[in-house]
Amino acid sequence: MNMSDAERIATTLESINYTPASTEKEADLIVVVSCSVRQSAIDRIHGKIRNWNLRKTKEPLVTVLTGCVLDEDRLAFKKVFDLVFDIENLAQLPAMLADKTAEAEKEIENYFKIIPRYTSAFQAFVPIMTGCNNFCSYCAVPYVRGREYSRPHTEIIAEVRTLLKNGYKEITLLGQNVNSYGNDNPKEITFPELVQLVNDESDDFWLRYITSHPKDMSDELIKKFIQASKLTDYLHLPLQSGSNEILKKMNRHYIYEHYKKLIEKVRAEKPDIAISTDIIVGFPGETNEQFMHTVRAFEEIKYDMAYISQYSPRSGTAAAKLEDDVPKPEKKHREKVLTDILAKTALKHNKKYLDKEVTILADRYQKGVLFGRSGSFKLVAVKTEPRDLIGKFVKVKITDANAWALTGEMA
Ligand code: SF4
Repeated sequence: MNMSDAERIATTLESINYTPASTEKEADLIVVVSCSVRQSAIDRIHGKIRNWNLRKTKEPLVTVLTGCVLDEDRLAFKKVFDLVFDIENLAQLPAMLADKTAEAEKEIENYFKIIPRYTSAFQAFVPIMTGCNNFCSYCAVPYVRGREYSRPHTEIIAEVRTLLKNGYKEITLLGQNVNSYGNDNPKEITFPELVQLVNDESDDFWLRYITSHPKDMSDELIKKFIQASKLTDYLHLPLQSGSNEILKKMNRHYIYEHYKKLIEKVRAEKPDIAISTDIIVGFPGETNEQFMHTVRAFEEIKYDMAYISQYSPRSGTAAAKLEDDVPKPEKKHREKVLTDILAKTALKHNKKYLDKEVTILADRYQKGVLFGRSGSFKLVAVKTEPRDLIGKFVKVKITDANAWALTGEMA
């Protein structure tokens, strides 16, 4: 979501004649898109703004903060940033900046109507909704982004159509909980219907979506892995914990057995699909026994990838009222235990690609190596002469695999 916010902010700023700076030092306007999910992100902003305010004593600089900002952080940030605004009010940013810079010329009306300055010429994130109704106990998003709002599907399709017309090869539908798209508006279509509509827009692109919530993952959506041919063989489905007691404390509204059944259904439709997850270790009160349920989940599900984070309290959330009682070294240990299992299961999955041909979307070329992601979101590196391949689908024969990446040669 933050990437999409940033792209829309870029468009808004360019509409009032700002141009992108190549480094932070060159910028005379810095906009921070904050993320409230983790305290560490907020702490980093405090560190940055101290330096920027020192810089302001020597040269002109305007600092702006937006994104997910809790009320109590907002009060503190208002004292140190030149401007703090809600992302929903992005359309008014030029007017707000006008007070600070006297350069604003134009006002754009609606956040979703702002065409972002996409950071890639071939991959685009298309937001389909904002907000979240789930109130996971560790997460600040519902407080700072508000309730779910589904963007009209006609607007989404129009944005996708323009992107595809301009040669984009990968579209990622974006939302905090895409599976509940349309639930806030009885007249709107469902997420599986939206996936199908986007799928049918063109023959030559890949379609992805993030993020899904297991409680809202329907059989109809699972079937789209077969029915929607542009949907890639990759599913990111956050588990967060394998312990039903911890899931309850996290307010996740599902149990591990439900999650496992979903994975079985998905694999029944698409046996080779790659599956990744998010996990929090060291949630308040997580005992070793409860953690072992997550270990069991890793052993049973055999993930391709997992984004494992050590719990840190986010003030203003329900979990922040609980004692953060799992010691840091123990959190670190639990993260390592899971990472070690992941390394084994990921390697096993990746070895299946040896000697096989896969298609990647090439996204960069560095020191004689072409990099890209496969449909199953595997990082693939190919030694090759410089060629005009960035942003194109390229066929690669896989010659080597480790847990985190594949290596290949041009097929
Ligand atoms: S689903 Fe939970 S973790 Fe995700 S944004 Fe909503 S409240 Fe936060």
